[in-house]
Amino acid sequence: MGRRIPLFVLLLAAVYPLALQAEWHSRQAAIMGTKIAVQVWHEDEVIAQHAIDAVLGEFHRLDQALSPYIESSELSQVNLRAAHQPVVISPEFFDLLADSLNYSKLTQGAFDITFASVGYQYDYRKGLKPSDEAVARSLPLINYRLLKLDPNKYSISFEREGVRIDLGGIAKGYAVDRAIEILRQSGIEHGLVTAGGDSRLLGDHMGRPWHIGIQAPRNSKAMAAVLPLSDSAISTSGDYERYFEADGVRYHHIISPKTGRSAGELQSVTILGPNATRTDALSTSVFVLGLKEGIALIDRLEDVEAVIIDNQGKMHTSKGLEHLQPSTVKDTATSH
Ligand code: AMP
Ligand code: MG
Repeated sequence: MGRRIPLFVLLLAAVYPLALQAEWHSRQAAIMGTKIAVQVWHEDEVIAQHAIDAVLGEFHRLDQALSPYIESSELSQVNLRAAHQPVVISPEFFDLLADSLNYSKLTQGAFDITFASVGYQYDYRKGLKPSDEAVARSLPLINYRLLKLDPNKYSISFEREGVRIDLGGIAKGYAVDRAIEILRQSGIEHGLVTAGGDSRLLGDHMGRPWHIGIQAPRNSKAMAAVLPLSDSAISTSGDYERYFEADGVRYHHIISPKTGRSAGELQSVTILGPNATRTDALSTSVFVLGLKEGIALIDRLEDVEAVIIDNQGKMHTSKGLEHLQPSTVKDTATSH
């Protein structure tokens, strides 16, 4: 008698994992020039779908405000007018600019949103780059100290004509943080939001950590490493995301403010930390700083860790991740 397993127990065992599966809801979209992926767990399909709608709406709202390609965006209006007069902006945009300047100070100018004063002269799709003369002419305009923020008026002005700003190194992380806040307010306790190379995890993957892959920079189908993570953010900056090659040089989208050319020492930088605004800004920063200075910065900061792949394809980690092994596992929740 004791050996017979009742049929309903067998059925329950078979159906239970499916039931769990049914409570994960996911969607993908193309917004902010990148792939957005949202995955949430909730028993109630309607609540889950509303939460995902709200997240995608938030990505659209931020794209309209921060895109350099949309003429009416607050960012474009600032680029158009701030060299002539102070431009009053929304508190949200102001705070993001203030945050960006803090990262410039923290990284001694490696992170600098005025990189765009030269950066806009590259077109990675068309394979266009500025001449050495054009870079030399615009290089003095890359300097975050030329941005003047007035916290009493919520305004910004540029101290020189020709300065341009671009939040491409921090805006996706900020949007991911806003998305996680919206999920939380919707009653979601387990979720994942990815915008290109920036992700944040809300809670765990129902009792287990999420497994997040770091893409191998020279093999889009392989993982360099897989990290078990919960309740944290992860950003990767890579030289393989937007680039073209000319005369044996890889021209990619992460610009060294010192040279006006692509930072050449690394293939990818992944940062783990408490929120995606921080991991996004720091992944771009460490990419510019290079291996030695980059690791030194991350080891100095208590709340972040780094995985760096150098231009020989070799993996390096900050102190807190010294145990990390290169991996071939492919089964991951998301990868960047
Ligand atoms: P990410 O993939 O987060 O590293 O962001 C790369 C984007 O950051 C680029 O496409 C640019 O929009 C922007 N960016 C490039 N160089 C810099 C820099 N030195 N400081 C701040 N943002 C940068
Ligand atoms: Mg970044």
